[in-house]
Amino acid sequence: MDRGIVAGNWKMHGSRQFIVDYVDTLGAAVQDQSLPVGFVLFPPAGYLEFLARSLDERDLSSAVSLGAQNLHPESEGAYTGEMSGEMLKDLGALWVLIGHSERREYAAETNELVAEKFSAALRAGLKPLLCIGETEVERESGSAAEIVTAQLDSVVSYCGTDALSQGAIAYEPVWAIGTGKTATPAMAGEMHGLIRDELRQRSAELAEQVPLLYGGSVKSDNATALFAETDIDGGLVGGASLTAVDLVAIARCLA
Ligand code: PEP
Repeated sequence: MDRGIVAGNWKMHGSRQFIVDYVDTLGAAVQDQSLPVGFVLFPPAGYLEFLARSLDERDLSSAVSLGAQNLHPESEGAYTGEMSGEMLKDLGALWVLIGHSERREYAAETNELVAEKFSAALRAGLKPLLCIGETEVERESGSAAEIVTAQLDSVVSYCGTDALSQGAIAYEPVWAIGTGKTATPAMAGEMHGLIRDELRQRSAELAEQVPLLYGGSVKSDNATALFAETDIDGGLVGGASLTAVDLVAIARCLA
């Protein structure tokens, strides 16, 4: 398995000046602490190249990988406003978020489209970070496990079991994203255990290989307890990742 991963999803935030300041702070913090953690940053796609160059100038390219927040399933064509995995790779992305709940909600991405995008990521040579998780209504109705299993199953049926070994999975309960509500460590640990078991039923090797990240209002003051759960291998962090010092503080909880 990859070293523990701490991923930062910037969503639709950032600017060139933001990146210059962020990389300066991150550089100082990472060099001070030599953390055994792999960072992945997901900026808006238009900033990938600028961020890649800024990280390179500070010798941070080996500590920090880059990812895109979305891709189009085709490699090119008449799809105005879209970007393909191949283009994102060309701009410096190594990873891509697939099926983030904000895309499932605002861009009406279905499990079927998510599976196509997962496959497109692999075709482009990108590592997919598959986001799965239930809504509040689904949790309250007792169907969280069923929803998460169906989200995973649709990728496996479309792409095959081995495809999962190429990336990572983030369990992100939708009700915890950007809300300040966090799953309790026990609740998150239980869902991660379920996902690990789902993988194990397909292949024991796969279950050991695939990093499982928790996402949903992770902060430095709740990360230690979350990361202490056996099946949580890292975090996908939204809001708190916009402050480099906070992201590093979260990574310290994993180290
Ligand atoms: C996310 O965007 O994936 C996320 C987990 O956001 P936040 O940390 O702000 O809840």
